[in-house]
Amino acid sequence: MARLVVVSNRVGVPDKGARAGGLEVAIRPTLKRRGGVWFGWSGRVAENKPGPAKTVEHDNVSYVTIDLRKDDYQEFYNGFANRVLWPILHYRLDLAEFTRRDLSGYFRVNEFFASNLEKLLRPDDVVWVHDYHLIPFAKALRERGHKNKIGFFLHIPFPPPEILTALPNHERLIPSLGNYDLIGFQTETDADNFSRYLANECGLKRVDDDSFTFDDRVVRVGVFPVGVETEAFGQLARRAIESKFVREVLGSLFGRAMIIGVDRLDYSKGIPERMHAFERFLTSFPGWRGGVTYLQITPHSRSGIPEYAQIARMLGEAVGRINGTFGEASWTPVRYINKSHSRTALAGLYRAARAALVTPLRDGMNLVAKEYVAAQNAEDPGVLILSRFAGAARECAAALLVNPYDPEGVANAIDRALAMRLEERRQRHAVNYKALLRNDLSVWAERFLGTLGHPNLSLLSVEKLAARVQFLHDEINRLEADMAQKR
Ligand code: UDP
Repeated sequence: MARLVVVSNRVGVPDKGARAGGLEVAIRPTLKRRGGVWFGWSGRVAENKPGPAKTVEHDNVSYVTIDLRKDDYQEFYNGFANRVLWPILHYRLDLAEFTRRDLSGYFRVNEFFASNLEKLLRPDDVVWVHDYHLIPFAKALRERGHKNKIGFFLHIPFPPPEILTALPNHERLIPSLGNYDLIGFQTETDADNFSRYLANECGLKRVDDDSFTFDDRVVRVGVFPVGVETEAFGQLARRAIESKFVREVLGSLFGRAMIIGVDRLDYSKGIPERMHAFERFLTSFPGWRGGVTYLQITPHSRSGIPEYAQIARMLGEAVGRINGTFGEASWTPVRYINKSHSRTALAGLYRAARAALVTPLRDGMNLVAKEYVAAQNAEDPGVLILSRFAGAARECAAALLVNPYDPEGVANAIDRALAMRLEERRQRHAVNYKALLRNDLSVWAERFLGTLGHPNLSLLSVEKLAARVQFLHDEINRLEADMAQKR
């Protein structure tokens, strides 16, 4: 088997104690299983010129990291990646702060990554590049003469061309994706948006439904929804609910039902909108006052960016207002925590929670939603309240799907979740759980790497067909659950 080289902005070097994000959670088990190299930024900013790459060997994986210069960090990471690409790819043109200087910093860092990776790249390595920080990375490698198989997976949404074309210089950046052999997306909507961009904006010729010709090469486009390690996460949750930490949390609730939310502090996660909906719930359903506690775990992220500092302030105010208005000396409606928690602690809390509120305004997938389902006790499961704008809504179609922009609708869903009878909870959970089992994390990585390794064009069409069959199957199950509930 060819050596696997994973490239992503941040590298999950073991024992660093850093908080795991969705990308890291998804990649780590695959690399551990297959062995290989994980290359990217160390997370450090060098005072002067960055030194050579550092390598840590662990469990058959070489973690190779490089530092960034201060201006690189500012222009590439804080600037173009997170103040332009992140908002625009999440459909938030209103928040994008474009400068040409940041764009050239972004290209410069991609070149810098490529010039460092090529020092260790072998001709038969399979290179798997992740996420929006590294869109032009394959181009930088190709220009240096590398002919490796290179795949790209976008963990976040890809908006329709009508939105994307508002990005200044999109015609310089987005077509550079054509240098990859395979480009993977979380959902069909994202893949269709991208295909439409290639056809309409770049005039690329379709070879078939999922492939385009780019220069003298064929570029394939596919859908690979990221999964979780469903059974292993369930086992973790079974053990974790007995831990001292979870027992203490449960003890402090004095028998009240718990609702849980777990999100990085990010405007895409819709947390202020969710607070508003919870406030509406307490107003519209006074019977639940004193009987339910909402635990929102929200580690800070990207705090150097003004939009993130602003949302932190807004949220603090909203929580203060709700607790001040509805709280009693003996009951705090919202517990809002900015500390990050271990996955074990989260697994136990998910299992203990009667409902989860996962209501992003837009999200590539959202692993928290899937982890919540995986963590439940099938005999007495909690209810997932899930935004229809999260990629996870395709597979978790038996969740209570909500529109996060509609506080009244979300408030009604909270009431419905808390009051839901056991039979309906079991049915909904069983449907979601089955969908997660079918698309476990290992399936995701193997499907992507298998497709990248086989230039068989019909493969993707088969995958697409299988995804459609699965979607229809889930829809039927959802309708059955609905009908059973009405009966
Ligand atoms: N997570 C964690 N500790 C925390 C908060 C989150 O380990 O305190 C994990 C969470 O379990 C999930 C991931 O971080 O696996 C977040 O992934 P998701 O796709 O939900 O969101 P992202 O942060 O990648 O946008």
